[in-house]
Amino acid sequence: MASTGLELTTLGHRIRHHRVARGLTLDELGAKVGIAGSQLSLIENGKREPKLSLLQAIAEACGTEVSDLISGEPPNRRAALEIELDRAQRSPVFRQLGIAPVRVTKGMSDETIESVLGLHHELQRREREAIATPEEARRANTELRLRMRAQNNYRGDIEKLAEKQLKAAGHTSGALTHRTVSIMAEKLGFELIYANDLPHSTRSLTDLENGRIYLPPASIPGGHGLRSMALQAMAHRLLGHTPPTDYADFLQQRLEINYFAASCLIPETAGVAFLQQAKKDRNLAVEDFRDAFGVTHEAAAMRMTNLMTEHLGMRLHMLRVDSSGAITRVYENDDLPLPMDVTGSVEGQPVCRKFQARAAFGQQNRTTEQHQYTDTPAGTFWCATQTGSSSDGEFSVTIGVPFDDARWWRGRETSARAQSTCPDEACCRRPDPEAISRWSGRAWPSARVHTHMFSPLPRGAFPGVDDTEVYDFLERHAAG
Ligand SMILES: [Zn+2]
Repeated sequence: MASTGLELTTLGHRIRHHRVARGLTLDELGAKVGIAGSQLSLIENGKREPKLSLLQAIAEACGTEVSDLISGEPPNRRAALEIELDRAQRSPVFRQLGIAPVRVTKGMSDETIESVLGLHHELQRREREAIATPEEARRANTELRLRMRAQNNYRGDIEKLAEKQLKAAGHTSGALTHRTVSIMAEKLGFELIYANDLPHSTRSLTDLENGRIYLPPASIPGGHGLRSMALQAMAHRLLGHTPPTDYADFLQQRLEINYFAASCLIPETAGVAFLQQAKKDRNLAVEDFRDAFGVTHEAAAMRMTNLMTEHLGMRLHMLRVDSSGAITRVYENDDLPLPMDVTGSVEGQPVCRKFQARAAFGQQNRTTEQHQYTDTPAGTFWCATQTGSSSDGEFSVTIGVPFDDARWWRGRETSARAQSTCPDEACCRRPDPEAISRWSGRAWPSARVHTHMFSPLPRGAFPGVDDTEVYDFLERHAAG
């Protein structure tokens, strides 16, 4: 027997079809089966479920069978359209819009219903597309990485812009102070304000109306995070960004603001001079570069990839790997063999267990950089790895170069050496056959659900962030 709303709608349409074919009004058929015409109308509209005895009476009065009435097929094209519209208007995608559903009347043309259905189909298509965003994002991210690789991970335009802004704010040399960053903001007409209640989906928020850049309060006083965030917020303005239209645009802008912040924290001229001297002394080390400019190890390693191929002619790789072995940040132009998924994406992929980026987690002394030579199918590489921990757990940051360039780096004399044949599974991915047979059926691991690297971009005025939270925040602070 029909029970759901949808099945009742089809049943109602079939009853109406047979009644009209028989030339009966609602009241006339009602009289034949012993109910009021208004009751029959509710049944025909799918709002009430008829008893089986009533169905039998209706079938008899219309000269048909109960089995025909309860068939799941729409009785005609018009009914099919109405049933489909009913289904679309019940969907969660439509209901969350808060738009009143269309009420179908007799006088409404098939064309009108088809047009409304067309809108519903498009709405559903877009919803599916939004769910597919993680894949779109991974593709866009890969394209961006390859584009940057083709230009040595270097953006001369942003380097020049950063030097110009620094000069205007009176910065001369050494680490960029918080005070100088504030002056840079002032020159753009902004005041830096620290707020405890920034929306969760934002890193910073700029109030263009009142000339304010809201930042989270300092969690690590003296860390470069805040300076970096303030610089990134200013970069959107300096680079003339407009709200991103798709994920590729969003990632491009994020790259540019990160690049601008990095070029301010380690300006090109001073950074290149430092690296050239260290190379001359055969004493290149991320930790020295990091300490000279007061930035994190990761930021210093990444900055080396911006400057070293372009200015020192050295190819290199930089990896940030979490304690599970997955790559969270990566750059290479030295052909280091990296794991890759079908879309060409490297982020999120597990790096070879033989790589020091991963092996370093097992070392005893982790206060300074560790060094290693690794033989791979693409040749031998030397690398330096530093481990650390964040609120997300342990991570390692590695910088590395092909064997021939190791001579410029501190730590080249290391005796640590490993062999990697990845992506060959036999390298580090295939378990020992004896272990497999020993544990077969004797263990039960429970998998941790991995969170996506990229979640769908919420649609709205500010892509990527929660609009409601942003408006609430702005209203709250603009009033105060
Ligand atoms: Zn391996």
